[in-house]
Amino acid sequence: MGGLDRFLQHWAKELEPVLRGAGSYSVLTPLQRQEWARTVGPRLTGDGAPPTQPARRRAPRRLPPVPLDTALADVKGIAKQTLPKLKRLGLQRVEDLVYHFPHRHSDFSKVSKVSELKLGEDHTVIVSVWEASESRQGPKRRSTQAVLGDDTGNVRAIWFNQPYLAKSFKPGTTLVISGKVNVFRGSFVFESPEYEIMRGQEELMHTGRLVPVYPTVDGLPLRTIRRIVKRALDSSLSLVVDFLPEDTRHRAGLMGLQNAIAQAHYPDTEADWTSARRRLAFDELFLLQLAVIRRKKEWQQEDEGIPLEAGASAVGGFLEALPFNLTGAQSRVLDEIMADLSQSRPMSRLLQGDVGSGKTVVAAAALLLAVVNGRQGALIAPTEILAEQHFLTLADLLSRSADDDRGPTSASFEVDGIGRPLTVGLLVGSMTRKAKNEMHARIREGDIDVAVGTHALLQEGVDIPRLAVAVVDEQHRFGVMQRASMREKGERPHLLAMSATPIPRSLALTLYGELDISTIDEMPAGRRRIRTRWLEPDLRPTAYAFIDKQVEQGRQAFIVCPLIEDSEAVQARAATEEYERLSTSVFPHLRLGLLHGRMALREKEEVMARFKAGEVQVLVATPVVEVGIDIPNASVMLIDGADRFGLAQLHQLRGRVGRGKHDSYCILLAESPGEDARERMKLVERSTDGFELAEADLELRGPGDYLGTRQSGLPSLKMARLSDQDILAAARTEAIRVLDADPDLQSEHNALLAERLAKETANLPGEIS
Ligand code: ADP
Ligand code: MG
Repeated sequence: MGGLDRFLQHWAKELEPVLRGAGSYSVLTPLQRQEWARTVGPRLTGDGAPPTQPARRRAPRRLPPVPLDTALADVKGIAKQTLPKLKRLGLQRVEDLVYHFPHRHSDFSKVSKVSELKLGEDHTVIVSVWEASESRQGPKRRSTQAVLGDDTGNVRAIWFNQPYLAKSFKPGTTLVISGKVNVFRGSFVFESPEYEIMRGQEELMHTGRLVPVYPTVDGLPLRTIRRIVKRALDSSLSLVVDFLPEDTRHRAGLMGLQNAIAQAHYPDTEADWTSARRRLAFDELFLLQLAVIRRKKEWQQEDEGIPLEAGASAVGGFLEALPFNLTGAQSRVLDEIMADLSQSRPMSRLLQGDVGSGKTVVAAAALLLAVVNGRQGALIAPTEILAEQHFLTLADLLSRSADDDRGPTSASFEVDGIGRPLTVGLLVGSMTRKAKNEMHARIREGDIDVAVGTHALLQEGVDIPRLAVAVVDEQHRFGVMQRASMREKGERPHLLAMSATPIPRSLALTLYGELDISTIDEMPAGRRRIRTRWLEPDLRPTAYAFIDKQVEQGRQAFIVCPLIEDSEAVQARAATEEYERLSTSVFPHLRLGLLHGRMALREKEEVMARFKAGEVQVLVATPVVEVGIDIPNASVMLIDGADRFGLAQLHQLRGRVGRGKHDSYCILLAESPGEDARERMKLVERSTDGFELAEADLELRGPGDYLGTRQSGLPSLKMARLSDQDILAAARTEAIRVLDADPDLQSEHNALLAERLAKETANLPGEIS
């Protein structure tokens, strides 16, 4: 670039220090000429050329350490507008940065010469800048172009949309460049490579080594978060205290904590990273095990449960009244539950099963047993709409058995013993104060046999005096705190936690070690396979046409609107608009219905009833339909904005169809899905097996994300993986050993550990331990 003139000018500058002091060659004697060649020669080939290996260690900066609990707002060098972005990543204090581990590393550790570059491969080169300038590819697209070289040749680089770089890449600057080598007009080019200006012996952050790639959010460039984390490490890593007792650390063969954190971010080698991860994963699992084992001990000490008489005939009658037979798996878990309920030790059981596997029926039988014994039951759901759905389902199921007109089966029911028909009551936050008070009173007086509700049921003031069986749906969204507070209401009720999020057994034991586990691993017979297709945005009309055709054939369809995180009101408005749009311009000839969270229960019931009766052909809904809606004639689930849903949610939504005898379809639409979302949608397309999806999702996101352990208050799992069976076993062994020797962690030896554990669980006011 710039032709021979430019080339020579450049070299004139390069040669200046080489020639300086050498004087004019022409006046030298032969001997002096030899001397000249001896000094200048090496400079031409070696001196002044960039070093071939980047320096690894910088001289430690002597800045005063910044305490780990310093709020990021008070940290120098973090721009104000960056703070909210960091917060979205859950980063609020310096310590969070120290523990913000990269999800992978780019290996830029091997340095190549320009002459060794190969098309399509990742390379790191150390080069000096010949020239760098801004270039335009159009009015809006401004970039930086540069010609770079080392002693073996030249290469071009371009940074799209970063015109400002040209200014910092002054000719002669030494740069380390890492990235894939492409070809443009016959010559090699790096396109938007990672780069770092090399200054003296400074340690490299962005290239020339195993470089951390951090989880980030829109508008927070990788380089920025990398710089911010690096600063936190420089300023505060030395303050991290290793809380593991020495002997534990040695037995488990683990490296020290500071070293592990340093190597997790900037490993010297892959082996170092592996050791670092092992240490950090151990910590997570170890703390978790300590918490879980202590909780289990607490729980077992309190033995005052409520043994329920088997009441086989009553439950048998209920089952016979159902329009289907239980699957083998349902019968098995029901037996397990019934055995627990008869004990004086309170049940503490997790019931897991895929969407549609029939958990509700099993739960209903358990609730019924409480009522038959003159007791009360409660069912807690994570959202109002779910609570309402459960209320309707239970009312239907239980009234079927309580109603004398439904055949001889109800005759054997001990329900008669309570002297009136069984009643199910609903209690949710959005009810009027008056209605709530009324419901409170009825529950307190025992007029309600089975109370269904949201958190409202758990809050102060709701007294369920004869509560014997509490069912908590989707309990991982509830978390430990609520589980604990449930148990503290009066006598200890039997607890059944239900989850449609299949958790592999090893992980379930880790997370819910105090729970026994029952799994429904079989679907009711006759379920049709659901075919899933992810359509590109321009195929939206095809999706609508497909719905049209299905409706023509007598089927029904769901259209789920994109998930809007912010508020239910915004969500409701968006759904309403979409409903209008679809009604007027897409399906003017069809009967559409609208369902969103802001509608009154009566309105929801009405539209659901009309959908069930087939009057409504296409139901436009916010993601609330995720649960509990059973429309066997529905054959199409169209999920709009599918990229915004998690894998588990997509699977749940899809589970709304394929419940009848018709072939069913799930269509995913997404405007501009990111890489993760594409991966999720591909998975959902490929598999209908909840367990398989769960495994895949765990691989994709890690257990912490998947289970929302952050929200649930469990120590978050960032480094531990599902496959860490050996680390888990070691953590468990060590946790048992520690607690056996020192159950309350009161010894001096365990002081730091106790402190750390308390900190991990500090955000759990309801925690028993
Ligand atoms: P889950 O809560 O596990 O997602 P549900 O309890 O809502 O599943 O059951 C899904 C649907 O399957 C419901 O309509 C229910 O009545 C029905 N169902 C449950 N068990 C059976 C069974 N053994 N055979 C046929 N249908 C069943
Ligand atoms: Mg259900």
